[in-house]
Amino acid sequence: MSAFGLIDTHAHLMDAAFAADREAVVQRAREAGVAAMLLVGYDLASSRAAIELARQLTGARAAVGIHPNSAADASEADFAALAELARGPEVVAIGETGLDNYREFTPPARQREAFDWHLELAEELRLPIIIHNREADSDVLGSVSSAGARGILHCFSSPDVDYLERMLALGFYVSFAGPLTFKNATRTREMAARVPTDRLLVETDCPYLAPEPHRGRRNEPAFVRDTAVCLAGIVGASLDELTSTLWANTLTAFPSFAEAALA
Ligand SMILES: [Zn+2]
Ligand SMILES: [Zn+2]
Repeated sequence: MSAFGLIDTHAHLMDAAFAADREAVVQRAREAGVAAMLLVGYDLASSRAAIELARQLTGARAAVGIHPNSAADASEADFAALAELARGPEVVAIGETGLDNYREFTPPARQREAFDWHLELAEELRLPIIIHNREADSDVLGSVSSAGARGILHCFSSPDVDYLERMLALGFYVSFAGPLTFKNATRTREMAARVPTDRLLVETDCPYLAPEPHRGRRNEPAFVRDTAVCLAGIVGASLDELTSTLWANTLTAFPSFAEAALA
């Protein structure tokens, strides 16, 4: 597969933050060279919306999941409905899910229960899992090891080399978002330099975490280019070379993305 363009592997484009100008946002992404994007759900409603939007946008696909911070509010019926949604042809991954010890919206035991549920669903459907991890390295490692899961560490922020190496050994891909570009993020850039180039991905996590020079503003898929430029500098590649690598990595990390008719 040759390089068609950048891929934002984690965008919440269905979020209300884009309700007023979503078409213009998509247009700016295309102009910035973003050829494809993965729309990631964080609860039942946003997962449904991700699928809807993926149907409408060329080069878009969806992931469905219940974010650890939303898991406390999700009912058993929500989880059952999500499991049905996950079988849709637009869905290329399960998530975002994971563990968040930074925010305390959901008790830890409930987060683990929800995470394990997603891991089982991903295994059943043979889909990669998109993991959100805030300050929960050892628990994430424990859960994915026992589940034998494969997938993506989204918005990678851990400073722990041992954790990174063990997740790489399990076959995980490592996705970097806007914080990679922040002036004080020396450690994150050091961690990125340790990731084999064939395991790297980029994302925005928009509308959150806009990269420099947009920091503090609403993030949008076009800005994935700024993170890619930063990452290209870290790995010593040109932006074109890295774009080609990231394209190939995305299609390997999310095998069903290849069918997304990225014309
Ligand atoms: Zn997240
Ligand atoms: Zn997210």
